[in-house]
This record gives sequence, structure tokens and C-alpha cells, in this order.
Amino acid sequence: MEVTMDDKRVVIVGAGLAGCLLATLLGLRGIEVAVYERRDDPRASAAERGRSINLAISARGLAALGQVGLEEQALSRALPMHGRMVHDRSGARSFRPYSADGTRAINSISRTELTRALLDVAAKTPGVRLSFGCRLTDVDLATGELRFETVDGPRLERADVALACDGAFSAARRAVTFRAGFTFSQDYLDHRYKELTIPARGGDFALDPDALHIWPRGESMMIALPNLDRSFTCTLFWTAEQFAALTTPDEIAGHFREHYPDVAALAPNLVDDYQRNPLGSLATIRAWPWVHHGTGGTGGTGGTGGTGGTGGTGGTGGTGGRGAGATLALVGDAAHAIVPFFGQGANCAFEDCVEIDRCLAETGGDWAAALASYERRRKANCDTIAEMALDNFVEMRDRVNSRAFQAKVAAEHWLERRLPGRYVSRYELVSFTTRPYAEIPSRIRRQNRLTAVAAAGLAGAAGLVAAAIRGRSR
Ligand code: FAD
Repeated sequence: MEVTMDDKRVVIVGAGLAGCLLATLLGLRGIEVAVYERRDDPRASAAERGRSINLAISARGLAALGQVGLEEQALSRALPMHGRMVHDRSGARSFRPYSADGTRAINSISRTELTRALLDVAAKTPGVRLSFGCRLTDVDLATGELRFETVDGPRLERADVALACDGAFSAARRAVTFRAGFTFSQDYLDHRYKELTIPARGGDFALDPDALHIWPRGESMMIALPNLDRSFTCTLFWTAEQFAALTTPDEIAGHFREHYPDVAALAPNLVDDYQRNPLGSLATIRAWPWVHHGTGGTGGTGGTGGTGGTGGTGGTGGTGGRGAGATLALVGDAAHAIVPFFGQGANCAFEDCVEIDRCLAETGGDWAAALASYERRRKANCDTIAEMALDNFVEMRDRVNSRAFQAKVAAEHWLERRLPGRYVSRYELVSFTTRPYAEIPSRIRRQNRLTAVAAAGLAGAAGLVAAAIRGRSR
């Protein structure tokens, strides 16, 4: 549909993965958008130590990146991982392909590099204006005023539409936290995470780079993803008590020698990484509604001139004085942060952006209608992947060890090969298709019923054959 945009002032808070992609999509649609990011421009600064260095990006993320011409670039800088490499306590390894035919892969991509690439594209898109070093502190939906802290002092902006892409601990979301009817929860896991590094060895990867490595240890686990510099970033997912129990270098080294013997030999800076890298928390955040409308204010203040330039302070937009109030929409982690065990948080946040763009196209640029469709279409999908991500933690840290689980995966792959397109495993539906997440559980239940019937049939047939053979040999 032809989109005719009105002159609404659109602001995105947060130039992370979702904020950058959304800004570009809106810019390409002819919408002017101002983006405010708390941090300095990551294209001009080093990555933070120990903060989720790489991401597994799969079909959904790639499809979204394709919308802004970044799919090929992202893939050219990614390391495909075709399966899981499971490391047992003795150091023995077994490779489990992700797909039935072994050809499909998820992609290990540097978070910093991906953010920089998205920022480059956003910065080149007409109508997109990026400002760094601007930390949102307050939103007044009645007046549309957004307050930011900058090194030069407070800064005031005005928005008709504010898109909160400021992550799991969204400051924009705080503006609606105490509104009547706003439901919000954050469920923390007992587990926390810490990153370690396995450096390149003799210029090469110390482990197979074609796999996501897992050290399942029942209650806890470690994973490792390859990086382009031939190192691996390992992430420990342990309970807070487990982390607290190891403090001295001897305790740390001893623990790894006992429980992760192959890693102890490959990570010379293990103790230093363990002691210096931060502990991250893991939460599922659920919020509803995602879209909030202001009730209209009393008019605003005038704008100021700015310092201009990329990353400069720009001018304040002035607060307009229209009195119509603003609309705030939560996007990505700000709306629905999930635990990282399906590698889907960023993929899902990207899908949000594509959905907003699609809804704008369908409604001819009517923001209220588009955002209403966006939240309606996305909510069940995001709730579903949140549950699947929690379940996948148990699978990765524990179930992968069991023979029953391995037999189930082998049976699934067997069925997938025999019934291509008709039987598809949950992992493949999540990671290698863009089928709405919400459709996956019912499809899996249907498939499981069919396989149970087929298995019962096979068992019955096998019983009859065995009986016939016994009868004949008597
Ligand atoms: P963010 O990426 O958090 O971006 C938010 C942005 O807003 C940041 O730039 C931040 O600086 C800025 N901001 C915050 N507050 C303010 C403020 N007050 N004012 C202005 N700006 C602000 N997902 C995957 O798909 N695959 C994976 O393999 C994967 N692995 C993960 C591993 C770990 C350990 C974790 C914790 C997460 C992982 N995720 C993964 C999830 C993924 O990181 C998030 O889902 C994704 O980053 C969400 O994007 P976002 O843009 O919504 O939020």
C-alpha cells in the first residue's frame, strides 16, 4: 500500500540492535526519525569486556537484516555452526547436527560488529539522525517530552511517537510502569552468566569452529561460540552460589580441572577472566500493553540551538505545545526480554522491527493503527519464544546428556528425512524458518501425536511379525 506519512515527530530511544534496524526501516519508508543512544558511538570505541561478545543469528534475524541489505554482509562475517558439540566430564566430545540433513547452521556473529554495521546503514539512510551520549531519564506522555542526560547537561526533546528500543532495563518503560492496566513482570533465573575466552592456539581454532560447544553439567553449563579471530567466547551459566563458591585462583583452576578438563588446558587466562569479567543476570521480562498513548498536555517549551555534528548534542526539538500527547511503543527487549538459551532474543527483536514496518505499510502510515496491529500480532509470538527459551536451558544443561533425548533427536531427524516439510523438529522451526513462534508448539504437539501413533503401529506390527516368526519356528 502507498504510504503517506503525516508530520509526526518520531524518536527511537536506544541504538542497539533493534533501534538501528528500526531506524533504517523507517528512514527507507520516508519517515524522519531521531535516534538517541546512551553510549558513545561504538564505531569509535572498543567493545566492553565480558558483555555477550557474539550472538547466534539464524533465519529470522537474517531475513530481517536482508530488508536493509545486510544479510550477505552479516553472513560474510559470520561463522556457521552446523550443530552442537557436547563435551562430557571426561573431555570426550560428540557432535549433534542441528538439522536432519546436517546442512543447516546458525551463525556466530560479533555483537559489536553487527551493531556497527547496522549503525553504518542507519547513518547513511536519509531521514535518520543519530545522537550518542544521550541517556533517556524521563518520558512525559502527556506532553511528549523526553528528557536526556548528556555530558553537556540535560537535553529535552519532543516526540509524537517514541519507540522504546532501550533494552531489557528500558528507561522509557519506566514512564508507564505505574499506569493503570500496565502488567509487568521480571522473572530472574537463579543462574547468572560470565564470559571467558579460549584464545586461538598456534594461529588456529583450539576447538572445532563449526559447532556451538556445550559442557552440560546438569544444574549448570558452559557454552562456547567461535569468533573470527579464531578465539572462542565461552559463557558460564551457573547459579549465583556456584559463582560465589570459587574465589581464589586455586579454587577456580581446580574446579575447571575437575569439571571442564579440556577447557582448563585451552584457556590460559581462565582465572583472570573469571575474576575480572562481570557477572550478568538472566531474566524473562513480560509487559503488556506495549503501546501507550498520552492523554494530552498543556503545551511545551521552545527548542534550543544545538552543537550539531555527528554524535554532537544537536538542538532540542522544542516541545511543540500541540498538547495531543505522545504514543510510546515498547520494542525488542524493552517489551519482552528472554533468556538466551534458544539464541533468539535478537532474532525476535529484529522480527518486531520488521512487523512495525509491515504494519505501517498496511495502514498507510497510520501510527496508531500500525502500532495496535504490531502489538497484537507479536505478543503471542514473543510469549511463546520466551517459554521455549526457558525450556531449552534444561535441554542444553541436562537433557542433552540422556540417551533417551539423543534417541528422540535421532528419531526426529529420521522422520524429517522421510517426511520432508511435513515433519520438522522444534529446533528447525525456531532457527531455520520464519514461521510465527506461536504456531510452533501446536504443530509439535500434532507431530508428536502422529509419531506416537506411528510408533505404536510399528511396535504392533513388529509384535505381529515376531509372533509369526515364533509360530513358524515351533
Ligand atoms: P539492546 O541490544 O540491549 O539495545 C538497547 C540499546 O539501548 C543499547 O544500545 C543501550 O545502550 C541503549 N539504552 C539503554 N538505556 C538507554 C537510555 N536510558 N537512553 C538511551 N539509550 C539507552 N540473542 C540472539 O538472537 N542470539 C544470541 O545468541 C543471543 N545471545 C545472548 C547472550 C547473552 C548472554 C544475553 C544476555 C543475550 C543474548 N541474546 C541473544 C539476546 C540479545 O542480546 C537481545 O535480545 C538483543 O540485544 C535485544 O536487542 P534490543 O535492541 O532490544 O536491546
